[in-house]
Amino acid sequence: MVIFSPNQQAIANRIDADTAIDRWKDWRWQVKHAVTDISTFERLLGIEFPEDEREALEETIRKFPLRITPYYLSLIDADDYWNDPVFMQCFPQPAELQVEACDMADPLAEDTDSPAPCITHRYPDRVLFLVSNVCAMYCRHCTRKRRVGDVDSIPDEAEILAGIAYIRENPCIRDVLLSGGDPFMLSDSRLDWILTELADIPHVEVVRIGTRTPVVLPYRITEKFTAMLKKHHPLWVNTHFNHPAEITASSREALRRLADAGIPLGNQSVLLAGVNDCPRIMKTLMHKLVQNRVRPYYLYQCDLSEGLAHFRTPVSKGIEIIENLIGHTSGFAVPTYVIDAPGGGGKIPVMPNYLISWSTNKVVLRNYEGVITTYQEPDSYEPVYCDRKCDTCRLQLKLDDADESKAVGIARLLSNDESISLVPENTERFDRRHDDDD
Ligand SMILES: *Cc1c(COP(=O)(O)O)cnc(C)c1O
Repeated sequence: MVIFSPNQQAIANRIDADTAIDRWKDWRWQVKHAVTDISTFERLLGIEFPEDEREALEETIRKFPLRITPYYLSLIDADDYWNDPVFMQCFPQPAELQVEACDMADPLAEDTDSPAPCITHRYPDRVLFLVSNVCAMYCRHCTRKRRVGDVDSIPDEAEILAGIAYIRENPCIRDVLLSGGDPFMLSDSRLDWILTELADIPHVEVVRIGTRTPVVLPYRITEKFTAMLKKHHPLWVNTHFNHPAEITASSREALRRLADAGIPLGNQSVLLAGVNDCPRIMKTLMHKLVQNRVRPYYLYQCDLSEGLAHFRTPVSKGIEIIENLIGHTSGFAVPTYVIDAPGGGGKIPVMPNYLISWSTNKVVLRNYEGVITTYQEPDSYEPVYCDRKCDTCRLQLKLDDADESKAVGIARLLSNDESISLVPENTERFDRRHDDDD
């Protein structure tokens, strides 16, 4: 028997006293009744904003639209909504309209790094494939805020096929990350079709899907849906919980179904001022995630997208949170804290410093308690210089993957005698060199 919270009862009654509670768990009903305007929000939550505030809110959602499922709305504490982490993530704030000097429409250069429709190809062996522009709820902290609600950028079948063709033509791609929008907002059959097409490409070894439906629309995860997903292993799913208040009976059930379908689950949180910028909140969240078989994957520093300035914390807050996790709790409950490099450099891990010093054969380290310790390095290690000439190496690699011998980036600096440095192109010094060449 389904148990509804008092908030859910109240919201359902206000939507439709006769039928809403019966249809509450129907995900399409939830999508159909998503709140997209301020007055419906007020009516369903039983609150009222002052007239001048409402005007500023209307102006904000004209630029960055509003969308909240009745389910996610029901998690808001109506008596203290201004302090509510769920409210903060779904309800507009006029501060979104303040543009800072550092703000960018597309800070991660996802559009620039796009060689084919719906594809961002940034890393050597994996691509981001944006297959849906639709979300159940519009996160106020969305990094792709520029595109939210933009019907012109909903990928049609031809564009998806062009993306799939790109993946098929590039054998270096072994990992495809479906994102959007939210791929779980596609119909079962459409997602089944995309996953079937990808399964048909021999070099695609794994597919992952990024979705926030377990958080904002858990009823999407039906038994029929997970039965379909199960056909497409190895399939990984990453979701996006930011606060322990989002872990409810319904979201736990959604996670249980995904995990029972054999899908490894990960979580990507975003560090948000006023929502989860607190070591205790974060530790509780991580514990609740692992209890539900979800492995914390990344903790993101908030991006430089336009309209997110009021959510950003200093990097020190993220370091402080990681400092409060490593050693203090299970290793698998600690996410990697990353900054997604503006300009398209990809995710850069940032960590507290544990390596204090280093001499010829001894490292000085500190642990989470502040104990300073040393590790004696071996005297007898015969240095093996890895120049990636695997055919002359004494280690029996027994791998025939020729591609791996090619080193890239910093790994190349370490392995290749000819490369002395990686030089940034946009410096005056570099420009002068070009002039000399002329
Ligand atoms: C995050 C991301 C990936 C996946 O990165 P992982 O570190 O493997 O999770 C791939 N492509 C793009 C463009 C990304 O932003």
